[in-house]
Amino acid sequence: MRLDKYLAETAQCTRSEAKTMLAKGRVQVNGAVCKKGDTQLKDTDTVAVDGAPLTYQKFVYLMLNKPEGVVSASTDKRDTTVVDLVGDAYPRRELFPAGRLDKTSTGFVLLTDDGGFAHDILSPRHHVSKTYTVTIDTPLTQEMCTGFAAGVTLADGTALSPAEVTALSPDGLTVRVVLRQGVYHQIKRMFGVYGAGVNALHREAIGGLALDAQLAPGQWRELSDEEVGKIT
Ligand code: URA
Repeated sequence: MRLDKYLAETAQCTRSEAKTMLAKGRVQVNGAVCKKGDTQLKDTDTVAVDGAPLTYQKFVYLMLNKPEGVVSASTDKRDTTVVDLVGDAYPRRELFPAGRLDKTSTGFVLLTDDGGFAHDILSPRHHVSKTYTVTIDTPLTQEMCTGFAAGVTLADGTALSPAEVTALSPDGLTVRVVLRQGVYHQIKRMFGVYGAGVNALHREAIGGLALDAQLAPGQWRELSDEEVGKIT
């Protein structure tokens, strides 16, 4: 890879900012100042800016706590998107949400530029679970539990895979739902089959990775390799 491209991707700057860094002699390759952006790097080369070594990340994985009112998209003409919340922290990356939450839903959205990984966590074949805390307007019944476990058939005839539902509050109005597929408005439509409405829906976890309780709505952070490994 060319040095200026590598710099833009690892130091999260534009190609022209990388050129300025190079021209100012701030960039070292294998310990020696290098000013040529077209230098081809070998895998074994080390690159530093102002003496601080850079590490190349092929892909970025972010955990975001989506607030209500924000849409799960990369761009939108009217509404703020989950990608807008990341601002210009990754100018060289084409981030997108791996899976959607409704505009009114909150919680864990994974943002990445790794299309293969996103496909894996969304594909029903990979069985990656998504765990939600849901507030419903009618107490959970045994019929709902049995129906969810067997696989609900939606009003339009769509036959869903088995899902889990358990009560979290004694009144049966706050429940945990675990899904392994992603159909549009799935949880709302599943409860709708039993005449129950959803008042609030919060995604707590994707696979074995829980939303970081330190992240306030609208906040995000990068995932470590170990955390990415917990998802699938
Ligand atoms: N199911 C829904 O109905 N909405 C969501 O946002 C996620 C799952």
